[in-house]
Amino acid sequence: MRGNGGKQFKFSEKENAKVPGFKRDPVGDKEAEIESGILQKYKGRLLVMASDKCAVQCRFCFRKNMQKKSIRNLPEKLHKMLKKDKSIKEVILSGGDPLMLGNNELQAFFRAIPKPIKIRIHSRIATALPSRFTPALQRLFKQLGSRLIFVTHINHPDELSKKSEKIFRNLSKYGITLLNQSVLLKDINDNAKILAELSEKLFSQRILPYYLHQLDKAQGTAHFEVPIKKAKKIFKELKETLPGYLVPRFVREVKGEKSKVWIS
Ligand code: SF4
Repeated sequence: MRGNGGKQFKFSEKENAKVPGFKRDPVGDKEAEIESGILQKYKGRLLVMASDKCAVQCRFCFRKNMQKKSIRNLPEKLHKMLKKDKSIKEVILSGGDPLMLGNNELQAFFRAIPKPIKIRIHSRIATALPSRFTPALQRLFKQLGSRLIFVTHINHPDELSKKSEKIFRNLSKYGITLLNQSVLLKDINDNAKILAELSEKLFSQRILPYYLHQLDKAQGTAHFEVPIKKAKKIFKELKETLPGYLVPRFVREVKGEKSKVWIS
């Protein structure tokens, strides 16, 4: 990877530093858990920890200190919950990375979520492990079509490649909505030029920039934090560079809040 994009995955001794304000569970996942592996933070949406594995180990991960465990019978539990609670309009498959599951396991989740509930997948796999997008997996996605929202986690333009372009072209042909969320990371993407290049490149691969996150303060990630004053300056410059549809929303997640908090 050109530039500093690869730093996201490199261990640093700085991870062992205890920094005030950086916690094991910075966004309150534990409090939001309503059933083992199923979280509700926001109205009308459930988040499922579908997998405890990832294809890469992002060193800034906000769940890096959380106990990883796969949970048995999760699709069945989810299905029961959705039958009872008719207020749920969307189920978010997260983890870990849900695409680390096998096709049968994924299909069990898809079957557990009745129409017209939307399915959102958050994943780094299209760029971290593109070979996972086999024709069989793509057929599964094709069946879901416009019910599926696929959110990629891409922080640096160099993560996108010819392989990812082919994957996203297919997903877009199936009517799937493609969005991206990034994390603002010190020495990796903390300048407007790289972020603008990222937005342009995402768009060229049919993905709309959705969120730019201020770092979640997970223990062992302080060396990735961009001070908020600098972060706001970068975002202002980004807004002044790009057309509005290529500017992601600059947000932070605050424990207990009823939505993401927009940073202006
Ligand atoms: S892919 Fe997501 S969940 Fe997995 S290590 Fe990276 S940020 Fe964390």
